[in-house]
Amino acid sequence: MTEATGSLWEAITPPAPPFAPLDGAVTADVVIVGAGFLGLSAALHAAMAGLDVVLLESHQPGFGASGRNTGFVVPSLKASIGPTDVVRAMGETHADRLLRLVAGSGAEVFGLIARHGIDCGAVQNGWLQPAHSRQAEAALRGRLPRLLQAGVDADWLDRDAMAARTGIAGLHGGIRVASGGQITPLAYARGLARAAVAAGVRLHGDSPVTALIPDGAGWRLSTPGGQVLARRVLMTTNALIGDLLPDLRASVIPARVFQIATQVMPGSLRQSLLPDMAPVADTRRHTFALRWSPDGRLVTGGMVPPLPGRLALARRQFARRLARLVPGLPPIRADYAWTGVIAGTLDFLPRMMRLAPGLEAAIGCNGRGVALTTALGRELGPWLAGRIPDDDFVLPVTAARPVPFRRIAGLGPDLILPVWSAHDAFEARFR
Ligand SMILES: Cc1cc2nc3c(=O)[nH]c(=O)nc-3n(C[C@H](O)[C@H](O)[C@H](O)COP(=O)(O)OP(=O)(O)OC[C@H]3O[C@@H](n4cnc5c(N)ncnc54)[C@H](O)[C@@H]3O)c2cc1C
Repeated sequence: MTEATGSLWEAITPPAPPFAPLDGAVTADVVIVGAGFLGLSAALHAAMAGLDVVLLESHQPGFGASGRNTGFVVPSLKASIGPTDVVRAMGETHADRLLRLVAGSGAEVFGLIARHGIDCGAVQNGWLQPAHSRQAEAALRGRLPRLLQAGVDADWLDRDAMAARTGIAGLHGGIRVASGGQITPLAYARGLARAAVAAGVRLHGDSPVTALIPDGAGWRLSTPGGQVLARRVLMTTNALIGDLLPDLRASVIPARVFQIATQVMPGSLRQSLLPDMAPVADTRRHTFALRWSPDGRLVTGGMVPPLPGRLALARRQFARRLARLVPGLPPIRADYAWTGVIAGTLDFLPRMMRLAPGLEAAIGCNGRGVALTTALGRELGPWLAGRIPDDDFVLPVTAARPVPFRRIAGLGPDLILPVWSAHDAFEARFR
């Protein structure tokens, strides 16, 4: 059985009956490995496209980043990634497709939630990105036309409008994306799992894939309890891949992120701070992000230096940062602290890789995966069914793309933190 993650989401999401492990030998058109948002959305849409789908999860749906994230539905790529970066990385045609997919991804999440009646604390009142310095404000403002060009429903809020929307004094102006919002991530994952099963997906929990070998025209996957023979395999394991496929593991840099949730805050604060329940993530390199949970707690987080006792450190560090950046809060107690792992890529863009004939992997949604994975899954369904040729797929389908100098690059997320923090502090004060 899956161990507890200690997250607030686990505490407030109604328990779901566990999905039984795979038992014995079965066949399928396609087997998907990993039941996070990406695997769940891909499985749901593949079943809707008429495929016979088996979805294998080593724990239970939402065990990975999908059940532990902050639940921000962000229909935009990372602030520093402009359309020209995407064109440079994948060419104009694919860049155009990806940017449009991202722009529509907020609507996709909330539409899916509505269609399948998923009860997951969904609030679509926009996503806010205030600048943390004058310099960042100018850069963000310069980016707005390109966002609009890519179809993102963004508008500009000046300093006063941002202060009114957030209830936080001293912020600079910034962007509001109206189709963004927030969800309770574990509840969303469990809802997607129910929708996938209702569409015909055979979902097995506590079924880690331990071996994967070519067999005839397809692949044979082994778990401790059984085997699946399928024509096609889609890996959606994110950063938690282990040693199963070294090429896949080498294609991303794992980055550990921590979250805290405070005590339940006084009701009056909910009227003044983020009064629309629109989540906020600023432009700092080490982003300051904040949201309300459905039960009236503030949730924030980020990265923590690689020292012993990182969870305890996260409790202290993020409580202090919250008190500093949102003046006037009561003394903060971090009732919950938890951690999860992001699959990062050097260009912050996702990958679609063919590791061998019939063995593909979608990976690398970085820290913007809630909406992107959901929308990407919608594309993966018909693609797996052969209705979308490779050339027409939203992402370029490439061979395995290992991160160059991965061992050194892998140290990046931890080494860069003090540099980012110093840079952010300097900018906020002097620029
Ligand atoms: C703390 C944190 C906060 C974040 N906040 C946000 C946010 O607010 N907004 C946003 O857009 N993004 C956010 N992200 C990123 C987002 O959560 C991820 O991009 C997204 O959830 C990735 O989904 P996934 O399905 O690809 O991976 P995952 O959810 O990690 O799923 C992969 C699954 O594969 C399973 N698996 C692995 N190996 C095997 C195997 N051999 N056999 C069977 N199963 C296997 C794992 O158990 C896991 O359940 C955050 C991430 C973290 C960690």
